[in-house]
Amino acid sequence: MSKTLAKQKQAVRITKAVRDSIKGPASSDPVAKQYIPQDAKAYVLPVERRDPIGDDVHTPVTGIVHRYPDRVLFKVANVCAVYCRYCFRKEMIGPGTKTLSQDEIDGALQYIRSHSDIWEVILTGGDPLILSPRQLSAIIDNLCSIEHVQVVRIHTRVPIADPERITEELCKALKRDKAIYVAVHINHAQEITVDVKRALNDLHAAGCILLSQSVLLKGVNDDAGTLEDLFRQLTALRVKPYYLHHPDLAPGTSHFRGSIKKGQRIMKELLGRLSGIAQPTYMLDIPDGYGKVPLTPCYLNEIDDNEFMVEDYQGCKHSYPPKD
Ligand SMILES: *Cc1c(COP(=O)(O)O)cnc(C)c1O
Ligand code: SF4
Repeated sequence: MSKTLAKQKQAVRITKAVRDSIKGPASSDPVAKQYIPQDAKAYVLPVERRDPIGDDVHTPVTGIVHRYPDRVLFKVANVCAVYCRYCFRKEMIGPGTKTLSQDEIDGALQYIRSHSDIWEVILTGGDPLILSPRQLSAIIDNLCSIEHVQVVRIHTRVPIADPERITEELCKALKRDKAIYVAVHINHAQEITVDVKRALNDLHAAGCILLSQSVLLKGVNDDAGTLEDLFRQLTALRVKPYYLHHPDLAPGTSHFRGSIKKGQRIMKELLGRLSGIAQPTYMLDIPDGYGKVPLTPCYLNEIDDNEFMVEDYQGCKHSYPPKD
């Protein structure tokens, strides 16, 4: 396959918390690998693209991505506490990209206000928890005042990568009558430090419902034991594992992508050995904006019209009779 050298225009930024959770050299440590460039490996492949999941084609006004009828993304920040090497929006965030102006924020809010089918608003970016509690509070005030918006969800890496930002003031801004879901981005149990536990606990105490999202990353967490450890620890910290994403086709990230087959093998290993409440759904964002689909392994084989063979978690097959 033809390869061209990636232009490494992505910023490098790590926090003290991340530095403290790194235990070994950047070439082997599962936390360091997520942030520290390994440029020798970062080739751009022809299948990789600037806008891997097709945000642009579903952007009706600046800051909004409206792909599904009942929910929108509202990209309220263009920077993050840290920059992940595999980031699917790496070309749209970081230094040199544009922050939303107040007019653009107002325009996005107006779009949400005027579309009564929008039931949920997902704050994303960049990282929404980079905003000051005052800025964030103003946005959430606006959203909560819209009757048809029943749920606000925040996708963030801050509680994991920069837990010091989860302050009393921020937690106060998140304490609402309407449901606030916080989906934390975390990929390895080594990222769960004492400060991270405190931050998650405070968010939960503020009434937020906590979910996690992880990316299946080659050489970081692509084995059942590593993921089992992560999902068990998160569940015990009141964080429900939500999605395990197959990595997107972002430029220069092929060294992080394994095969979907391997991902499915790992999910099969987790089934049965790990509590159902600790199992995330393995997801693929179809390139170019067709949305997310589960990559759950198939346990069901149709052998005859309406008659099935079902595989159990140990791999044994059983027949399921046809209906009448
Ligand atoms: C991922 C995504 C969502 C959220 O999808 P869920 O399956 O509800 O988590 C919503 N809108 C867009 C554009 C997305 O990319
Ligand atoms: S925190 Fe999220 S948006 Fe920011 S660099 Fe990491 S993956 Fe990208």
